[in-house]
Amino acid sequence: MPTIGVLALQGDVREHARMLQEAGATAVAVRRPAELDAVDALVIPGGESTTMWKLAETFDMLQPLRMRVKEGMPAYGSCAGMIMLADRIEDGIAGQQTIGGIDMVVRRNAFGRQVDSFEEDLDFAGERVHTVFIRAPWVESVGADVEVLGRCEPGDRIVAVRQGPLLATSFHPELTGDTRVHRYFVDMVREL
Ligand code: GLN
Repeated sequence: MPTIGVLALQGDVREHARMLQEAGATAVAVRRPAELDAVDALVIPGGESTTMWKLAETFDMLQPLRMRVKEGMPAYGSCAGMIMLADRIEDGIAGQQTIGGIDMVVRRNAFGRQVDSFEEDLDFAGERVHTVFIRAPWVESVGADVEVLGRCEPGDRIVAVRQGPLLATSFHPELTGDTRVHRYFVDMVREL
């Protein structure tokens, strides 16, 4: 059984941990570099990317996170976590940094300007899943190595992507009863 950490600086950590357990992984909270060293893979939860970034710096986690992603650790980011995995962001706050790893531009609070939150059924990697969006980002553009796994009907925006061992969604599967996105990630971790 893979051990998958949930970055527990801020955000909906418990919900992800529960979904990971249901999907067949051992879930542990990760706050410090030694805890990061001990996991096979990492989930970066939804929450607030600006706060997560500042706490990552305060806890001396930003460089270790960048290093492990660079070394090929599988990671999955939902919503704020998607922002954290983006190489480039739009509409961040002054100086906002990310972990990076996925060659994409993510626009922060993109849907939030239109409507704060909504639910929608959409195709994720060929399966129909129910999704929840909360002040969600969308993916503005992707590089050649990024696979688009899902789009959202209003505007046909990219909302789910994969680049090698990295997965990101604009939405929050951890807030639904549907474990398929987490199962997809756990399968990725097993294969890599
Ligand atoms: N708007 C938040 C951010 O910028 C993301 C919202 C969420 O994770 N639900 O990080």
